[in-house]
Amino acid sequence: SNAQRDGETYRFYTRGMNEMVRERLSLESHLLRALKNHEFVLFYQPKVRLSNGSIEGVEALIRWQDPEKGIVFPSRFIPTLEETGLILPVGEWVVQQALSDLSGWIARGLSVPRVSVNVSSIQLRHRDFLETLVRLWGPEERAGLLEIEITESLILDDVPGTIATLQEIRSQGMTVSIDDFGTGYSSLSYLASLPVNTLKIDQSFVAQLGDRPESLSIVSAIISLAHSLNLSVVAEGVEKESQLSMLSELGCDAIQGFLVSEALPADRFEAFLQNGKGFLPGA
Ligand code: C2E
Ligand code: MG
Ligand code: MG
Ligand code: MG
Repeated sequence: SNAQRDGETYRFYTRGMNEMVRERLSLESHLLRALKNHEFVLFYQPKVRLSNGSIEGVEALIRWQDPEKGIVFPSRFIPTLEETGLILPVGEWVVQQALSDLSGWIARGLSVPRVSVNVSSIQLRHRDFLETLVRLWGPEERAGLLEIEITESLILDDVPGTIATLQEIRSQGMTVSIDDFGTGYSSLSYLASLPVNTLKIDQSFVAQLGDRPESLSIVSAIISLAHSLNLSVVAEGVEKESQLSMLSELGCDAIQGFLVSEALPADRFEAFLQNGKGFLPGA
């Protein structure tokens, strides 16, 4: 009967939900252990200037080196870190580790680019975030070498609050970029008033460059918009030479993507830096 079927459906969902809750709790406790046992690592992916092939910056991307599962990517655990508030201590570790790697590169005489870290909305809205950032920031030698990447959706929730925080961050000598630009619902009217330096074109548009005329229009519009607001533009997720040449023709400032390099462990990124000046393929 129907009643019986509904009963089965109910039991089915209950069991499904219990499993989800169990998995969540297990992931949460594993993540807490990961933080305590230093299982998080930062990988680094370069951003390369199209004008001369030099390195414009490098983005720190977190990975979890799970003793059993191996490398786990952030999409698998960032949401849980955010839901549980663990993103605060982990985010602090990210800034600390990125600055420590940066100091190491400086100490070994490398000409280092600006390092960017991704910051989630929970961090940016947290009272202590700015204080932590400034405390970890420290020595003069690193002035101008830290950037934060925030996503577009984050800004919309609290425009005046975000503007105030970003202003404070920039007054400390750090720069700010808007990540995944074009996927959120930015109002062009406040974009002009946002204290940011760079727009990063979301990789979904870059991936469709050449296949879908709309993507070409969108990318072209973002580049014009950025330049008219005196912002620089980085294209994310560049994988093909054809994308590189289109972006170059459209006047994009820098690219990031597998075509240049995937994200590398700190020591391998250091070797990459030492390799020289022409970082564009074919250069
Ligand atoms: P994101 O900041 O937009 O980073 C770009 C993502 O695209 C990275 O994935 C990067 O490895 C990947 N990628 C780079 N080049 C290419 C390419 O040519 N093709 C393709 N298909 N992908 C490419 P990843 O490292 O898995 O990070 C995913 C997201 O996780 C990041 O997106 C960022 O939002 C978040 N995330 C990473 N590290 C942190 C962190 O330390 N803190 C916070 N809050 N979020 C982080
Ligand atoms: Mg990013
Ligand atoms: Mg992005
Ligand atoms: Mg993203």
